[in-house]
Amino acid sequence: MSSTVPPELLRADEPAPFQIVQPQARSRFVLCCDHAGRRLPQALGDLGVAAAELQRHIAWDIGAAEVSLRLAEALDAVAILQPYSRLVIDCNRPLIAEDSIATISEDTEIPANKNLDSDAKAQRAKTIFEPYHAQLQAALDARMNQSPSPILVSMHSFTPVYRGVARPWAIGVLYHRDARLGHALLALLRAENQWPVGDNQPYAVDDEHDYTVPQHGEKRGVAHVEIEIRQDLIDSTEGQTQWAGILARLLPVAAAAIP
Ligand SMILES: [Zn+2]
Repeated sequence: MSSTVPPELLRADEPAPFQIVQPQARSRFVLCCDHAGRRLPQALGDLGVAAAELQRHIAWDIGAAEVSLRLAEALDAVAILQPYSRLVIDCNRPLIAEDSIATISEDTEIPANKNLDSDAKAQRAKTIFEPYHAQLQAALDARMNQSPSPILVSMHSFTPVYRGVARPWAIGVLYHRDARLGHALLALLRAENQWPVGDNQPYAVDDEHDYTVPQHGEKRGVAHVEIEIRQDLIDSTEGQTQWAGILARLLPVAAAAIP
């Protein structure tokens, strides 16, 4: 089966591949949410995936957008959210990664992503990945000369059970080469003494599986943290408000020592 490339991946009446919230916000924090939505471009139909599967965590980060929006408001921060499903293209994977456009996610096959030719892959990158990251870059560009310096907070959520294994952490703090903000936030969360806090759990940031932190944080010297919240804690308004409140309280404290 060879892939067919639709003339336009996104039609004029479909949302942009980024949502910018509070573009003029004044705080040093720049929030992003790579997996905010589960929208599919109409040109791609359902990707050959059953509707129930497209509601699951494989398609998006459940609750992460709502926490990001509330956190942005509380911190007076700009937030950039990506509304299309990660099954279209994963905005937190390098384009060269094998699962940039996943053909299987957990145990679900994504038939329409199989045997894509280079034109079809390039179209997804050009239409969704690149414009989203250009907006994130621009938001940081606009704040690079500010004092204190901008801080990138990359917001995600994780499934409580993955391949039958329960994950104990309520929240994970993820970082790689630059641990300034990560270590500070980790210490503050653990000092609350209320929940298991993951140190680079359930994932660690690396160059192979991450794009946002390496590209916009590490390469630019922008202090940053990637945050993963367990989805069952933020699948309700109460949980979303609670976790946005916790982070809005602790992030400025964690960032205070960073000039
Ligand atoms: Zn995510």
